[in-house]
Amino acid sequence: MATGNDALRKDWDTYFMDIAYMVSTRSRCPRRHVGTVLVQGKKLLGTAYNGAPMGVQDCEEAGCMIAEQYEVQLIDGKEQMVKKQRCIRTIHAEQNLLLFTDRADREGSTVYVTDQPCWTCANMLANSGIVEIVYHRSYPKDSDKVHNLMAGKGIVFRQLNHYEPPPQAGMEVTQ
Ligand SMILES: [Zn+2]
Ligand SMILES: [Zn+2]
Repeated sequence: MATGNDALRKDWDTYFMDIAYMVSTRSRCPRRHVGTVLVQGKKLLGTAYNGAPMGVQDCEEAGCMIAEQYEVQLIDGKEQMVKKQRCIRTIHAEQNLLLFTDRADREGSTVYVTDQPCWTCANMLANSGIVEIVYHRSYPKDSDKVHNLMAGKGIVFRQLNHYEPPPQAGMEVTQ
């Protein structure tokens, strides 16, 4: 028989994405907080966020390490080169997750990540043994090629719509 709590109980997608968001609050790069978790079945096997390597100064101590990059954007139907600033001090959350989990744990597993992976992270995840990626915030820059890669590899790649991050993990990100 259903109990009164069932309507309030979180589904698994919400549950694991909430954890990814809480993990992201550990990040000390003011430009972007990304969190990710590795899940096999319904078991949590690892967590990671974006950050500088252990034992060296992070963005809060040394400031972000800004690199300027040009990227192609479609503006009013025309492709234009737009200058973007990115912080390159941190190891991306997804890459840290791969550094801190075992291959055997990743085989057949799902990765929940607060932000759609960039091209480099997607490429590494595609070779990591995982079979599904669930993300929340979109990252338009690499979206097309990442979608093609995942389709080619047969990795389930889905965005959580109608999802609200926990309020204590909220942060505006700079695209
Ligand atoms: Zn930074
Ligand atoms: Zn990345």
